[in-house]
Amino acid sequence: MTRRRFIADEVSGDRAALVGEHADHLVRVLRARVGQEFDIAIGEAVRRGRIASVSDDRVEFELGEEVSGADLAGIILVLAVFKFDRMEWAIEKCTELGVSRIVPVISRRTDLHLAAAAGKRVERWQRVARQAAEQSRRASPPEIAVPIKVSEALNLQAALRIVLAESEERTLLRDVVRPHAAEDGVALAVGPEGGWTEDESQSFRQAGWISASLGNTILRAETAAMAATAIVASEMYSL
Ligand code: SAM
Repeated sequence: MTRRRFIADEVSGDRAALVGEHADHLVRVLRARVGQEFDIAIGEAVRRGRIASVSDDRVEFELGEEVSGADLAGIILVLAVFKFDRMEWAIEKCTELGVSRIVPVISRRTDLHLAAAAGKRVERWQRVARQAAEQSRRASPPEIAVPIKVSEALNLQAALRIVLAESEERTLLRDVVRPHAAEDGVALAVGPEGGWTEDESQSFRQAGWISASLGNTILRAETAAMAATAIVASEMYSL
């Protein structure tokens, strides 16, 4: 039987707890009762958790044997900030596909209002990622960084660093990634609704990022993020 998975808010020895809204969801929506069993992710491990006590804002678990967690792909998604509803969708779906880290960036063509509000969105993005991680049975959500500038993102470290650009006519993402299937750590940069500026594209290339295409149709930023993540995950990590 497939048990629902939750990521613990607190862990101490063989006990773990969900607290606040997280516990409320389990109590009200899933009608948690003492004795029920779920999978509880605690850091890198996932263990069987039997509910020991329930109150409105706290559900306590006794932890049992370890169960296997979903393997994580070492994909860092560098996402230029775009419309928040679409961005949340990208975060949710790319979390399901296994990205390990999401780095929002403020690019030249990021809408000014979105750029100003992005810092305050991080907590909400973390919640979205966490729910998606639980839903897709990951052991932990991707880390979501505070938004940084493109110039800072250029220095991110990964074995392979790829900037997705609809202007790229020769090099397909699949062909860039395939020869590196044995390596771990890929950074993928996806531009905003208006795309990267020429200056930004050039800066990525000068910093050693490889420019790659997802084909000859122009995809919305969220579609590009999901397609790129799926391609890398299937080429490098055998989905
Ligand atoms: N500049 C474009 C325009 O306004 O016509 C569209 C930019 S697109 C909506 C947003 C981002 O998605 C791009 O910066 C790029 O990173 C990625 N993208 C979309 N289609 C792509 C493709 N065919 N190949 C590679 N990247 C793509």
